[in-house]
Amino acid sequence: MNLVHIATGDLFRQALEQRTELGIQAKDYMEKGTLVPDEITIRMVMERISAPDSETGVILDGFPRNLEQVKALDKNLAEMAKEIDKVVYIKVSEEELLNRLSGRWICRNCQTPYHAVNSPPAVQGKCDECGGELYQRPDDTVETIKKRLQVYFAQTAPLIDHYAQAGKLLEVDGEGNVDEVSRKIVTALSRG
Ligand code: AMP
Repeated sequence: MNLVHIATGDLFRQALEQRTELGIQAKDYMEKGTLVPDEITIRMVMERISAPDSETGVILDGFPRNLEQVKALDKNLAEMAKEIDKVVYIKVSEEELLNRLSGRWICRNCQTPYHAVNSPPAVQGKCDECGGELYQRPDDTVETIKKRLQVYFAQTAPLIDHYAQAGKLLEVDGEGNVDEVSRKIVTALSRG
């Protein structure tokens, strides 16, 4: 779709890897599975959205995560004469989320995700795309996943109603495999 993929979690992990001020500020929150303060997160996203490559459209992944972030995003986008077109709600059971996250391996170099059982790489520990090293996120442990889900239900789930009322929500059944869910997302977006 020619959209720039902006994933806030990836931006924080990248900053942490590079030991920047932003990464150091985000570290403790990420390790605990809680949200990085809004002020830091919103500034980071708006800087990224203002970059020239974002001009023709972006897909935001992992943002906004609470109503404060929604408000700040809407306000900032309005100042740029832009707005959110659609919000894709990929619905997956808690049990399946736990299974996906605890079996997840990610390429340290290009961030491509794998799953130990559902979508393993051709060579164990190596990325099919770039040959990079695969690793498990430190917050993908059962204990931290449970904390992240608590945070999700308390702070992020209310956004579903918010975007439904705004007529922007596209609900997609996320229980299938990667290809099936991808197809459903593309179909939902093309129907609008
Ligand atoms: P994710 O890769 O989306 O699972 O995010 C990993 C971690 O980064 C989260 O548990 C938070 O600590 C932090 N994070 C990512 N996105 C946000 C956000 N929109 N607001 C606050 N913290 C975030």
